[in-house]
Amino acid sequence: MASGRVVSDCRLIPSEKACSVTVAGTEEEVLPIAIRHAVEDHGHEDTPELHEEIKKLLKEE
Ligand SMILES: [Zn+2]
Repeated sequence: MASGRVVSDCRLIPSEKACSVTVAGTEEEVLPIAIRHAVEDHGHEDTPELHEEIKKLLKEE
């Protein structure tokens, strides 16, 4: 799915505050934004595990 659009839906990422942010774009675009959002807005630690978890939750649009 190199050129397909994917969506990161924050409702699927376990976090303390309810959040409905979604990010759409290519995986290369979405992943860093979704990770930064999880870290800065949700206080997650920026770990390889978080990266993997967010990557797993990406859905093709
Ligand atoms: Zn969020």
